[in-house]
Amino acid sequence: MKTDLIQIRRDLHQIPEPGFEEFQTQAYILAFLKSLPQDRLELQTWRTGVLVRITGKNPHQTIAYRTDMDGLPLTEQTTLPFPSQHTGYMHACGHDLHMTIAMGLIQHFVHHPVNDHLLFLFQPAEEGPGGAEPMLQSEEFQRWKPDQIYALHIAPEHPVGTIATRPGILFANTQEILIHLQGKSGHAAYPHLAHDMVIAASQLVGQLQTVIARNINPLDSAIITIGKLHAGTKENIIAGEALLEGTIRTLSAESMELIKERCGSIVRGIEESFQCKGDLTWGSNYCQVYNHHQITQEFMDWTRRETTFQLIECKEALTGEDFGYFLEQIPGMMFWLGVDTPYGLHHPQIEPNEDAISVAIELMTRYLTHVASSK
Ligand SMILES: [Zn+2]
Ligand SMILES: [Zn+2]
Repeated sequence: MKTDLIQIRRDLHQIPEPGFEEFQTQAYILAFLKSLPQDRLELQTWRTGVLVRITGKNPHQTIAYRTDMDGLPLTEQTTLPFPSQHTGYMHACGHDLHMTIAMGLIQHFVHHPVNDHLLFLFQPAEEGPGGAEPMLQSEEFQRWKPDQIYALHIAPEHPVGTIATRPGILFANTQEILIHLQGKSGHAAYPHLAHDMVIAASQLVGQLQTVIARNINPLDSAIITIGKLHAGTKENIIAGEALLEGTIRTLSAESMELIKERCGSIVRGIEESFQCKGDLTWGSNYCQVYNHHQITQEFMDWTRRETTFQLIECKEALTGEDFGYFLEQIPGMMFWLGVDTPYGLHHPQIEPNEDAISVAIELMTRYLTHVASSK
């Protein structure tokens, strides 16, 4: 069974696809499901996602496990013998492992059903534009709406065998920000006849950082990262346009509102100062991942008591995850799964240790059996 799952992970690793275009991934999952005994297996597809229910023996509730499915627009730079076959795309956030773990759990539970229904959600588009929110609202999901929900995410910094989580906030509120500045291009030697958007953009990046430094309560946490800045075409032409893209992360919803308001004012100030037009667009946003206190505490206590895995109560992180939308409506929790690699999430050289797959499957087969055995 273990070798099968390693092969599945390697197959999935080779076919990373962008959000809502996980066609091959979906077909792969459906083919896998078809190969299993069908008597307790119920299936629905939703866009490029899949919902799988394993009928309980004496169901009182439904317990769900969710995995994401999409890859990232990155060119893989690992030395793996099974690299991405989709040029410019890579599973650099571990979603190939997350899916494999879900498939391993399904494989186990079709042979060892529990009393309650188990629902496995293969959710598209976690990296963007966000599949959790529309999936939650879908008829397919509402038909099988679970009473509790669990998910995990690989953690490069922890060794294999380590599980990390905390009750309450785990991941931040996130918001993509896009700013388009339009001035006037011109000859490098005639700056007085142009409105230089390289100067405007560099001032803007600096000013945005003052929001964090001067407007946010220092005891709260927030980040503005401008990860992409494009301006100009040639060294001796003044750039008439600049495009900035970034992300805002906060631990509180209030700080997010404040930062968005301040970004608006700063862009208006830049328009005034640099005689340009500034279009600010808000891209996709995710709410925080807030772990249900009691459910998380029970999971942590059980893991410490019943397994040999190392359970760490971690700090919250300013990463984002659209699993937070599920947790807004359904009590549940998410945890980090140690995969021991020197490269971080979204790094083109990340090579998660595949031994973590069997750790997660052992942990979650036992834990789901424990919580889904209501009589
Ligand atoms: Zn990611
Ligand atoms: Zn991810």
